[in-house]
Amino acid sequence: MPEVKEITHLKDLWNESEAQKMSGNQLALLRYRSNLLGADLRITNFGGGNTSSKLELPDPFTGRPVRVLAVKGSGGELGSITGAGFALLYLDRLEQLKELYRGEQHEDEMVRYYPLSAFGENRVAASIDTPLHAFLPFDHVDHLHPDWAIALAASANGKRKLEEFNKEFGRKIVWVPWQRPGFELALMIERAVKDSPGADGLILGGHGLFTWGMTQRDCYLNSIHTIDQMGEFISKHQSKKGSLFGGVEHVPAQDRKNIATQILPALRGVVSSNRRVVAHYADDEDALMFAASTWARELSSLGTSCPDHFLRTRVCPLYLPWNPAKEDVSILKARIQEEAVEYRASYKKYYDAWANADSPKLRDSNPSVVVVPGLGLFGFGKNKKEARITTEFFINAIHVMAGANALEDGDVSHPLPQARYAEQSQQFTQFHNYVALPRSEAFRIEYWALEEAKLQRMPAEAEFSRKIALVIGGASGIGREVALLLARKGAHIVVASISSSSRPPFIPFLALMVKSPKHNGRRPSWSMSPATISSPAKRNGYSKTRTCLLLWCSPVPPTP
Ligand SMILES: [Zn+2]
Repeated sequence: MPEVKEITHLKDLWNESEAQKMSGNQLALLRYRSNLLGADLRITNFGGGNTSSKLELPDPFTGRPVRVLAVKGSGGELGSITGAGFALLYLDRLEQLKELYRGEQHEDEMVRYYPLSAFGENRVAASIDTPLHAFLPFDHVDHLHPDWAIALAASANGKRKLEEFNKEFGRKIVWVPWQRPGFELALMIERAVKDSPGADGLILGGHGLFTWGMTQRDCYLNSIHTIDQMGEFISKHQSKKGSLFGGVEHVPAQDRKNIATQILPALRGVVSSNRRVVAHYADDEDALMFAASTWARELSSLGTSCPDHFLRTRVCPLYLPWNPAKEDVSILKARIQEEAVEYRASYKKYYDAWANADSPKLRDSNPSVVVVPGLGLFGFGKNKKEARITTEFFINAIHVMAGANALEDGDVSHPLPQARYAEQSQQFTQFHNYVALPRSEAFRIEYWALEEAKLQRMPAEAEFSRKIALVIGGASGIGREVALLLARKGAHIVVASISSSSRPPFIPFLALMVKSPKHNGRRPSWSMSPATISSPAKRNGYSKTRTCLLLWCSPVPPTP
């Protein structure tokens, strides 16, 4: 295990006196460790990764101590997980599954044995990653999706760069080629650890990171140090490299927020052709830098790499070619229509190429992320929260591509280290040093029967879900009641109200929303953006008009 060293990028959030209060309760400590890891999106993406501990608990039948695996349940989120969010399973039963395993072609059938291995009254659905944790011979295991680690995992020279990393930081992280999450991967990583005594982590090609420890604290430290060192390794390469993605081709438009407002109705309309979606716009530095770059079009067509990413972002985003310096907004609007038609046709082609008789039906051929030079990124989802998270996932993908680009050193020969067999190498798509998963693998994850089953378990959408309603005069009286009713029925609402005083009219309204009843087990989440619209208000003799945007968001679909 690594000794405790200064941390450069991340923070060691472990509070020993806090942890002491939980000593003797390993499940509480696992929850504590998980929440600390999930608190920083550089450690793992939203909803991504999982953590586990191997515990000794009294068997409810015999009272004798038995070995139990506690592992994040399917669809959980590390930052907010509680003790009840961990699936508990008998370790010896999971071990016995190796004898029942009929090979990679049949690995999905193993999933039905997980609920049969459940310990006690715990009935949290066990995630597909359960055997990956069970078969590693360490008491505490973290599987995380840090952008810095995925950058190594998605680099054409990743395996060689990992050796360089190990030498530089005195580490022993082992490379495992790409294999989709499941029973086969669990056996592969078990073997990789047996073959490399003293290993303190694994990089899964095209996927993410495994780290571990024999105590909760050791495991946490190993994870944050490994990720921090990988961040350091990539940052050093990046600073030597200078510009990313072939340099800037289009300077970001100064009035981009105004342009985004002009094109959003057209864009949202076009990508809602199959089912209505809500948009989120991102013009932060990463979004602008990627969208403006010379390589944006090629990298967009390759798509993301980590399986978690494209469950949200689809196989690849739509890149809208536009020259903000030479072309006006009307050209961009016209192009939205043309390019979306092309995207839908190529998505349908991708679906038809890989779907078989048992595949779930095509969900939506529209993009969920749109890249526009000069403007940045637009993400789409069934509500504002999902749209924002989808956009964040593509920002994760940008970080991964940037890291792979920084590590580039000219040698990208086949077979790629992501390929398990040499003949598989040509199926991966590659641009410079960045390697994306084969389309067949992307399809198997996007349209995985198990993932589909998870989507089917989601509660039905509310009546006004995916819709935005404007309620004028909505801060009081009938208007307020209408706004609340629409919100309770799933709509996103924009409340406009006139105020003649300095006290904003939406404050009592927000108080009402906070006290409102739970929807799908959650209170509404909301945000407000007060705006002052002076001209009509002045005409009516009022000094100010204020509007307030309130968002009612249902839970976001889970990831494995
Ligand atoms: Zn994973």
